[in-house]
Amino acid sequence: MADQTFDTIIVGAGIVGSALAAFLSKDNEHESILLIDRSFHALSGSTGSAPGLVGQLNVSQTLTTLAQESVQEYASMAGAFKKVGCLELASSDAGLSEQQERLAMATDRGMKASIVDHDESAKLLPPIVKKDSFRQALYFPDDGLADPGVITHAYRSQAKSRGVQFEEADVVEIKQSGDAVTGVVTADGRSFQARQIVVASGIWTTSLLLETIQKQIPLVPVAHPYVYSSARDSRHIDYPFVRWPERLVYARDHGERDGFGTYDHPPLAVDNPGASAVSDWQGSGFDTAVSKALKECFSSGFGSAETDLSSDSLELKLQEKISGIFTLTPDNLPVVGAIGPEGLWIAAAIWVTTAAGCAKFLTKLLKGEDVDDHMKSALDPGRFGSSVPVEELKKQALKTYNHIYGADESGGGS
Ligand SMILES: Cc1cc2nc3c(=O)[nH]c(=O)nc-3n(C[C@H](O)[C@H](O)[C@H](O)COP(=O)(O)OP(=O)(O)OC[C@H]3O[C@@H](n4cnc5c(N)ncnc54)[C@H](O)[C@@H]3O)c2cc1C
Repeated sequence: MADQTFDTIIVGAGIVGSALAAFLSKDNEHESILLIDRSFHALSGSTGSAPGLVGQLNVSQTLTTLAQESVQEYASMAGAFKKVGCLELASSDAGLSEQQERLAMATDRGMKASIVDHDESAKLLPPIVKKDSFRQALYFPDDGLADPGVITHAYRSQAKSRGVQFEEADVVEIKQSGDAVTGVVTADGRSFQARQIVVASGIWTTSLLLETIQKQIPLVPVAHPYVYSSARDSRHIDYPFVRWPERLVYARDHGERDGFGTYDHPPLAVDNPGASAVSDWQGSGFDTAVSKALKECFSSGFGSAETDLSSDSLELKLQEKISGIFTLTPDNLPVVGAIGPEGLWIAAAIWVTTAAGCAKFLTKLLKGEDVDDHMKSALDPGRFGSSVPVEELKKQALKTYNHIYGADESGGGS
C-alpha cells in the first residue's frame, strides 16, 4: 500500500502537540495534518502528572507573554482553568526584598499584584502552611490552576473536528532526502510522508532526534517529585496555590487532598526515559535526594492538622508520591522553531503554563506569518550555537533546576 501523504506530521499529542494540531487546523482546511502518539488513551507524557499551577510573572518577558496568552486560551475552555490566584511567601529579609522587585516588575508590565501582610495572607492561604513560618506574601490574583488533561483532550477534539488524522504509533525514524525531511516510520513498520514534521515529543525529543537524524540539542529530562497527602474532606473553597521561592517548594489544594512539590534537592537527570514520564521513585537515588527536602519542608513550613504531615509521620501519611519527568534547557526557555534539515520543527521544554502560547507561536511560523523577532530568537532551537559542547550545555541546563524561581532570565517553575 502506498504511504499516506500529509502536509504536516506532529509527533506527540501531549498538551503541546494537541494544541498545535488544533491551532494549525483552524481556518486551514486545505492543510492535511497527522497527529501521532504512542497512546491516545493515557496521558503518558509529562502532561499527565502536572498539577497545573500557572504563574504568569516571569523575569523573562517572553515567558510572561506566552503565559498570558495561554491563560487567555485556557480561560475560554470549559473546566480548563480556575483563577484562584497565587501567593508567594517570604520569611527572610532577602525574600522580602525579592518580593518588592517582583511587585515592581509586575506593575511595570501592567499585571495585578500586591504585597499582603502576614495576617491578611493567613486568611487567604489554604490551611496547609504553618502560620508562624512566613512574614508576608506577594499575591497574584489572576494566576490559577489549569487542568492539563481537560485542555489536552479539548484541543484533540477541536483538531479531530477540523479533519486532523490521529494515528496511535511509536515513531522510530524521521526520514530525510538530501537536506529535507520526507516523513516518518513507525515501530509497526508503517511510513507516512510529509513536507513538514514537528517533534513535540516532550522528554523523548532528545532521543528521537539523536537516534534518527543524529542531531544533538541541549535538552535534559529531569526527575521532579510531587506528593499527595492522604484524603480528607473537601474544604469547599478555591484557595490560591502557594509558592515559596526561598524554600523552593510549592503546594496546592486538590479538593479532597493536598499536593506538594519541591526543587530543594540535587537535580537528577533521567538519561533514558522509559515508556512514561513518571520514573521509579526508589530508583537512581531519587528517594534519598528528595526525602530530606520533604522532611524539612513539612517540619517547619507546610503541613496541615487534617492530614498530619509532620515530618515524623510523613512516609505513612503520603497517599501518593510521583517522580515525574520534565525537560530543562540551559536558559530555562522553551525551544520552538525550525531546526533543520528543511521541514523539521521542534516544540519542546514547554510548560503547561505556556503551552497554548507556544503552540500559537509555532502555528504562525509554520504558516509563514509574521512573528515577534525578539520572541523568535529567544525560543530559537539554534540559539545555543556550536561553540560550547552540548555536554557542557546540558550541565548548565541541569543547574537551572535549583534556580527555577530564580531572578535571572530563567525561572519557569510550577
Ligand atoms: C511532576 C511534574 C509537575 C509539573 N508541574 C507543572 C505545573 O504545575 N505547571 C506547569 O506549567 N507545568 C508543570 N509541569 C511541566 C509540564 O507538565 C510539561 O512541561 C508539559 O506537560 C509538557 O508537555 P508536552 O506536550 O511537551 O510533553 P508530553 O506531555 O510529555 O507529551 C509528549 C507526547 O509525545 C508522545 N511521544 C513521545 N515520543 C514519541 C514517539 N517516538 N512516537 C509517538 N509519540 C511519542 C508521548 O507519548 C507523549 O504523549 C510539571 C511536570 C511534572 C513532571
